[in-house]
Amino acid sequence: MPACLYVQEEDRLRASPFHLPVLISFPVALASATMLPFPNISEALGRNLTAAETVWFRYSAGMHDFWLYAHNIVFLLLVYTLAPLPVALAELSRPKAIHRYKIQPKIQVPVADVLRCYRNVVKTFVFAVGPLQLLSFPAIKWVGIRTGLPLPSAWEVAAQLGVYFVVEDYFNYWLHRALHCRWAYEHVHRVHHEFTAPVGFAAPYAHWTEVLILGLPAFIGPAIAPGHILTLWLWFVLRHIEAIETHCGYDFPRTPTKYIPFYGGAEYHDYHHYVGGKSHSNFASVFTYCDYIYGTDKGYRYHKAQPVKLREQNDADEQYGEMTNMSGKRD
Ligand SMILES: [Zn+2]
Ligand SMILES: [Zn+2]
Repeated sequence: MPACLYVQEEDRLRASPFHLPVLISFPVALASATMLPFPNISEALGRNLTAAETVWFRYSAGMHDFWLYAHNIVFLLLVYTLAPLPVALAELSRPKAIHRYKIQPKIQVPVADVLRCYRNVVKTFVFAVGPLQLLSFPAIKWVGIRTGLPLPSAWEVAAQLGVYFVVEDYFNYWLHRALHCRWAYEHVHRVHHEFTAPVGFAAPYAHWTEVLILGLPAFIGPAIAPGHILTLWLWFVLRHIEAIETHCGYDFPRTPTKYIPFYGGAEYHDYHHYVGGKSHSNFASVFTYCDYIYGTDKGYRYHKAQPVKLREQNDADEQYGEMTNMSGKRD
């Protein structure tokens, strides 16, 4: 059996800054060639493929990198549709069982509002997030996101995801804080704050301009530490799940994210929505360190320091007094 690899397979073996040394030199030399000087991929790698690598090779070898990258759009839509469902269904079917974990227990967001929110977000996905993803493909290629073999190690993936989360959190903090200036809030950010008691489906509910603005920091980490496209997929999925969790409206005990150092969580971001347009607190999207360093968590810490009874009384007097209905949305 003639066992030469064609250019398409060379694409799958393209090197990146994190590649093993054996693969660093030959893809460059072969950029204009039609075949690789190896009888098969195992010889090119110097070892047998792992099961995961075999699956990846079979799936991706015949697919252009553009379409691999475009998977992100499908993943984001799937995660947005499925991840908020468990809490939303539990709230509908067993509200008493989870009521004690509800952060703003007096607010019940009507199903009609959730459905309208879902429709709006899907529209934003189609007309803003999708095009942003597709148009950013040349940049993704330019920074060196790779699609080939070998697959990244778990350690490499974890290290890169750590960088992505910290970098995105920092830039997101400043952009979100800027969106709270009077003009930007009234014209752009106000939409996201319509839900004073957020629900999971409201995580990406925002003006399309905000979706694009706050989407950009998600690309800075991958530009600084480019990795495999699988890592990139995972990054967007995890960041999306994190946003849905912090907007879910419940502070469940023993949530795995509670064990992440400096992680904000649902209660932390819920307070930002609770205060609404007047909010000068809890701007960070993932961690708490930016708000702590720049002194924008003082309102939240004061709120938390109050005895529970007084806090509940204030919640009733201050927050709900401002609201014109019980939907968790400001009109
Ligand atoms: Zn805000
Ligand atoms: Zn929010």
